[in-house]
Amino acid sequence: MQPAPGYLPDYFWLYHLTASVTPLAGDCGQLCGKTCCQPDAANSLGIYLFPGEEAVLHLPRPWLEWEIHDPRHYDFPASWQEPVHFVKCTGPCPRELRPLACRFFPLAPHLLRDGQLLLIYETMPLPYRCPLIDQRRRLQKKFISTTALAWQELLRNRLIYDLVWEDSRQREKSGHRPAVLWPGKFSQP
Ligand code: SF4
Ligand code: SF4
Repeated sequence: MQPAPGYLPDYFWLYHLTASVTPLAGDCGQLCGKTCCQPDAANSLGIYLFPGEEAVLHLPRPWLEWEIHDPRHYDFPASWQEPVHFVKCTGPCPRELRPLACRFFPLAPHLLRDGQLLLIYETMPLPYRCPLIDQRRRLQKKFISTTALAWQELLRNRLIYDLVWEDSRQREKSGHRPAVLWPGKFSQP
């Protein structure tokens, strides 16, 4: 998989593609009280949008606090020079407009050194416990295969590829040996 310079992912297609898939057949928020949608005590929890994703959301939105961050002051690859959009929920979102990062959780992409994409359970430190990760819950086939398809589109963008590449190398350096959910026996739609 190789990114194309200047390629902008088709976010309208991605929102459509991921609109109705969910990690479990039922609402996983019932397991934890929707903990990943709750603000922390310092109201510091938020989501970075992918480059260009803001076009779908038509920011500002009343249910989102919206900040613009300089990537050089945060943990982004050197190729990220343009301001990045950081959003925090002030209440439940309209489901059809939840950002892509919410749609993919608890899956994360990992790139092997030969460029092969894997999907794993998220490994970054979280200020809450996700039972899907903690209990290694079996996720729906359709959720995994759709998330893989979405990542294949996103990784055509150079900046996103750089970000996932750097995260993958850091993950390897830290000694994580994450369980691979895709490709694998659940990879076929
Ligand atoms: S923390 Fe995990 S189980 Fe709970 S709502 Fe979020 S994704 Fe679902
Ligand atoms: S945007 Fe929606 S799905 Fe995402 S964390 Fe906020 S309330 Fe949850």
